Parts: sequence; C-alpha cells; structure tokens
Amino acid sequence: MSSNRTAHCCCGALNVQTTGAPELVAACCCGECQRRTGSIVSVSGYWKRNNVVTSGSAKRYLRKGHGGRDVELYFCPACGSTVYWLLPDLKPEWVAIAAGMFGDANFPRPSMSVWEKTKPDWLSIPADVHLDGQPQEV
Ligand SMILES: [Zn+2]
Ligand SMILES: [Zn+2]
Repeated sequence: MSSNRTAHCCCGALNVQTTGAPELVAACCCGECQRRTGSIVSVSGYWKRNNVVTSGSAKRYLRKGHGGRDVELYFCPACGSTVYWLLPDLKPEWVAIAAGMFGDANFPRPSMSVWEKTKPDWLSIPADVHLDGQPQEV
C-alpha cells in the first residue's frame, strides 16, 4: 500500500511530497545536525529522488560533511527552515528530509542512530537502533 506524505517549512511555502515508505530513517546527534535543526537530535527520512516532489522556492547552503563530502541543504528563504538536503557524493540517488517537517507522530521510527558521542546523557536511544562508532552523513 502506498503512503504519501507532505513535509513543509514553518511558513508552508516550501513543500516536499513523498511517495511510499522511506528507504531509511536515521537519528543523528552530530554537531552539524544539531545546528541545522536547533535541536539536540535530528531524525531524517531518506527517499529515492523519483519518489520526492518539491514545490516552492528554496535556497541552498553547501557545506562539507564529516568525511569532506558535499552536503547540499535546502531551506525556505522566507522562514529559514531546512526542509531537505542532498548527499551527492555519498547517496546521489537519495533525498533526505527532516522528519519533523512532516509533523507526524506516526512517522516511522529510526532504524539507526549515529554520532552518539555527542548525544546528551539524558536522551535514551532504543537498544536496537544503536550504530556504534560509525559516523555517517545523516
Ligand atoms: Zn518557509
Ligand atoms: Zn548529523
């Protein structure tokens, strides 16, 4: 059964529609994700590009990932929310979308958690989600 979802920025001008389940859902506590979100942990969903349609104008912020690879962040020029990003060097066929932009408490749970060395002690990650010591661009 196909499930469609819509993510949008704070003001609603930048929208992303997805078809089907995400290929991957991951949690990350790296400093880059913390600054991107303003939160201590980021949860991201990844879809194949042909299952994603974006609408509305976006500005791009290009940064280097932890391994020196490009990370292309797309954010709403009106409200500043980063809604989605591309990992052209690591997963060129994927689009990453910030899970919180879906505003859906039933969003699929993460299957992996990375960068736990910068995770605060008070935040518990379920035991089956840990991925110890393998930083990735998420
Ligand atoms: Zn906006
Ligand atoms: Zn991260």
